[in-house]
Amino acid sequence: MDLVIEQKCPTCGAPIVLHEADRLVGCPFCGVRNYMVGGTTLRFLLPARPPAGISAEDLVYIPYIRFKGCMYQCQGHEVRHAIIDTTRIALASDRFPLSLGLRPQAMRLRQLTAAAAGGFVGRQVKLENIFAQAVKMTALFMLDRVGEVRHRAFIGDTLSRIYLPVYRKGEAIVDAITNSEIARDSSGWDDLAAGAAPSRKEWEPRFLSTLCPRCGAQMEGEPDALVLHCRNCETMWEEEEGGFSPLNWGRVPADSETDLAVPFWKVVLRQENGGMLRTFGDFLRLTGQPVVVRAEDEQRRLSFWIPAFKLPPASFLQVAHYFTLSQKRIADGEPGELGTVYPVTLCRSEALQSLKSVLAEATLARRDLFPRLPALELQAEAVSLVYLPFRDAGHDRIERQTAITIAAAALKFGRKL
Ligand SMILES: [Zn+2]
Ligand SMILES: [Zn+2]
Repeated sequence: MDLVIEQKCPTCGAPIVLHEADRLVGCPFCGVRNYMVGGTTLRFLLPARPPAGISAEDLVYIPYIRFKGCMYQCQGHEVRHAIIDTTRIALASDRFPLSLGLRPQAMRLRQLTAAAAGGFVGRQVKLENIFAQAVKMTALFMLDRVGEVRHRAFIGDTLSRIYLPVYRKGEAIVDAITNSEIARDSSGWDDLAAGAAPSRKEWEPRFLSTLCPRCGAQMEGEPDALVLHCRNCETMWEEEEGGFSPLNWGRVPADSETDLAVPFWKVVLRQENGGMLRTFGDFLRLTGQPVVVRAEDEQRRLSFWIPAFKLPPASFLQVAHYFTLSQKRIADGEPGELGTVYPVTLCRSEALQSLKSVLAEATLARRDLFPRLPALELQAEAVSLVYLPFRDAGHDRIERQTAITIAAAALKFGRKL
């Protein structure tokens, strides 16, 4: 589920309400659009409502890690997946709830700023351990566990921190939102409070100007877009290490003005790694496709075509599989005028993390390939963003060159992932 967050406009300070996945922060008061850098873990507060006599300085904030994304797992001879959307406590303590449950969705969160009063307890448990706990709660582990886990990938950009405010009242520890007791005896409170640190400037999100770094024009993008588009100089920009970097991009021209330009990451693999997957011919053989491998397939360098947008996990794998298998029918794109654009909501590094799962999904010869998955290295040599034209067929969007279909409902659902 999507979280709603209250944030101050970095330009004029006015309050703005954002959705969790939003990166473009448009201010209705001053009109300026800023891009929120997502690289570092974002920190949010559940809003405290302490009674009179308890000040903001008395509050201690307990850290929870929020995981949201899709888990892909190659196990036995199956590719399994699950959506993970949960919070887990980051302390080794049995005094506080293990999870925040539905509370973050039920209220408006606040972005943590350096000005926030109170003490913030640091994370005490390794992220991997908290994550392993979260995974155990998913359907992947409810199923019968058949076969060895050969590969696992977590694809989702949300890994944020949410703080639960508490305070001490007499001998009890009290939840500062509901003002109900969490623990009857407050032993250990002094250590907890002493270890809590004041908020810091570097915990605040950073913002970038959305003017094109090349020509100075206003760049375009929907609130959740991870790639911004300058229509003036026909460039695409992604955030990388706190700045905007230009992307190699192209588009296959649309047949009709009503076509939707849908973005894909075209990933060309590095050649030297073992050489198992150099050409499209290698891909056809390795995955056991029931086709004759032709001379032109042996010449064609292999590329993976990964949706540059979120989809439900089953559709994501299927779409990546079908486009990768149909790559001979997809033209090389080139920069140029774009009509209506579907936003990039899945970043390049996530696309790279998905390669093994896509390869596994595309494989018919699973008994042969799956045992080799752990040792297989799929490194990218070149990544570009290519927009493909999709026509509107009511309930579906259909790609013009390959006739591959994506359900409109899957696209819609993906915007909420
Ligand atoms: Zn503003
Ligand atoms: Zn420009």
